[in-house]
Amino acid sequence: MNIEMVDLKGQYAQIQQEIDEAVISTIREAQFINGFQVSAFADELSCYLDGAHVIPCANGTDALQIALMSLDLRPGDEVIVPSFTYVASAEVIGLLQLKHVMVDVDPNSFNLTADTIRPAITSKTKAIIPVHLFGQCADMEPILDLAKEKGLYVIEDAAQAIGASYTFKDGTKKKAGTMGHIGCTSFFPSKNLGCYGDGGAMYTMDPELANRLRMIANHGQVKKYVHKYIGVNSRLDTIQAAILRIKLRHLDTYSTSRNASADKYDSLLNGIKGLVLPMRQSNSSHVFHQYTLKVTGDRRDALKKHLEQAGIPAMIYYPISLNEQEAYKAIGRVEGELSITQDLCASVLSIPMHTELDDEQIKFITDTILAFFKS
Ligand SMILES: *Cc1c(COP(=O)(O)O)cnc(C)c1O
Repeated sequence: MNIEMVDLKGQYAQIQQEIDEAVISTIREAQFINGFQVSAFADELSCYLDGAHVIPCANGTDALQIALMSLDLRPGDEVIVPSFTYVASAEVIGLLQLKHVMVDVDPNSFNLTADTIRPAITSKTKAIIPVHLFGQCADMEPILDLAKEKGLYVIEDAAQAIGASYTFKDGTKKKAGTMGHIGCTSFFPSKNLGCYGDGGAMYTMDPELANRLRMIANHGQVKKYVHKYIGVNSRLDTIQAAILRIKLRHLDTYSTSRNASADKYDSLLNGIKGLVLPMRQSNSSHVFHQYTLKVTGDRRDALKKHLEQAGIPAMIYYPISLNEQEAYKAIGRVEGELSITQDLCASVLSIPMHTELDDEQIKFITDTILAFFKS
């Protein structure tokens, strides 16, 4: 049985005709830079995100960088990030000579919380970057309240959570990336809405901020050859936008299919001693960018090996916490011991999760896991 971590070929086969036609017609139109497809995609994604302004850019890391560049921050200003996440958020903070402050995460949701953020806030703190890790929203309402109380910007890293929706206490629902000042996402091929190369976008509900983000992504240009800000050159390719327009129409179906696979994993892996299944929050939907297990009792690496011997890929997201990375050790600071992050780095294991997983594959994966715990 051939099992992939993410089955991009299988997914393409389902939409091949639509994609091929879109790519060929984009090439024939020859508007490779900022062609019609780019603004059409931004409009359609804006609609999907309940009216947020969408500013496409070259990748998710650029989105985070441009977001920070738009906020009038000064060198040395502090930005709070989780210590258990992908490197991109800490990286752009460092590039802009801001200071990262790494905070621990919740052991069940894997996300930072208002409680882990609060003690890290100083007079230098200017922004918080919550990351909606693995497809579920950080608990945003208390974070937004805290940010408001302290006058902080909130930039959501929604690269893994496009389509996830968070429910506030009063019943209001908002999509990941549209709750803070700016949301950032990535269209890296393996993301839930992935293109066939690199791509990314920023979202904001604030029209002025949208303008500034748009200018910064385009050389800080107000109009051609008039530069108001120091910017960057960060664009979504027209061909990628054409592909994303098609895939966006399938996004909710893709999320449903990921959830169905997660439900099957849940029921087949339920009750194994030494294995903790992903927690589902009541206030956020889950789009299962990853299905991430916690393996207790120091057996994670052995399980990973056991799966790989059976031809089943499994990945450790993330094996080393940001604060342990050489590049970040000497700069910025950390809040507390980050002991939960350390525990997670030693125990998490993500198993195959994508839109094409079938029952037979899931059964084979879960049987292989069950066999490991019986031995
Ligand atoms: C993928 C990802 C990014 C970066 O996106 P790129 O498009 O690869 O630059 C940033 N943050 C998180 C949480 C991600 O998963």
